[in-house]
Amino acid sequence: MTVAGKGRLSGKRAVVTGAGSGIGRASAVLFALEGASVVAVDRVEDAVDETAAMIRANGGTVLSVAADVGDEESVKTFINLSVEKHGGLDVVYANAGISGGLVPLGEQSVEYWLEILRINLIGPFLAIKHASPIMAKQGFGSIVCTASVAGLRANAGGLPYSASKAGVISLVQTSANELYGTGVRVNAVCPGLIETGMTKPIFDNARARGTEGKIGQLNPLKRNGVPEEIANMALFLASDEASYVNGQAFAVDGGLSSTH
Ligand code: NAD
Repeated sequence: MTVAGKGRLSGKRAVVTGAGSGIGRASAVLFALEGASVVAVDRVEDAVDETAAMIRANGGTVLSVAADVGDEESVKTFINLSVEKHGGLDVVYANAGISGGLVPLGEQSVEYWLEILRINLIGPFLAIKHASPIMAKQGFGSIVCTASVAGLRANAGGLPYSASKAGVISLVQTSANELYGTGVRVNAVCPGLIETGMTKPIFDNARARGTEGKIGQLNPLKRNGVPEEIANMALFLASDEASYVNGQAFAVDGGLSSTH
């Protein structure tokens, strides 16, 4: 399914977060196949090392970093690593996120909210904060964030998760405007339901009940998406092919968000 190896990120230096699994792993691998030197970041060291090994096996250039995207010092360090080791920074894909599960409203604590917002919303904010000055100095750069269909419509995720993803959509719109005149583009991709580490419990549960097929029936394409289909949109937004695309959020959901 992936259209790889056309050099669409040839010579670019990219940082991808959440690169140890799912959408982030597929994107880091694809970006490297397309010619980028990648700094792959995840808080799970073994997982991100495994992604790096996959990239190296394909002949790609990668550094793997174990770090928390919600920690400002860590973000500064992995952003600067691209400049120090790969000679610059052209692309950031702020993708890492957590779902937080489906906790009933009355049982949601402030700590639960803060942890989801810290990773899903403040994480991308910190990436934009520290990447954009480097990109602005050179007059170009592309920042892509992973939001979600849950940020576009109700009932697609838990309450703080959905609020964090709606926040990411506002973050890309607003920061694209704040970066007026710098040449730095900021966009979001809004995945529908994709089978990854995050959604494994949903799929496992459906498989156990024999209702797996029904999940995909919710969208007009009548099937579930795969991480590579999100990576393809992230690649487009990261690349110069999207040179006039800025401040937007794109659903990649088989048409789910168009249904009602
Ligand atoms: P995943 O769990 O497979 O991958 C997420 C990765 O992010 C994991 O490797 C995890 O270790 C890492 N991570 C989590 N918190 C981190 C932190 N604080 N610092 C660094 N790394 C951290 O899930 P995924 O589905 O690939 O999720 C990627 C993004 O896509 C998330 O932002 C998620 O909200 C979003 N998303 C996923 C779906 C879906 O259906 N899978 C739908 C919409 C949006």
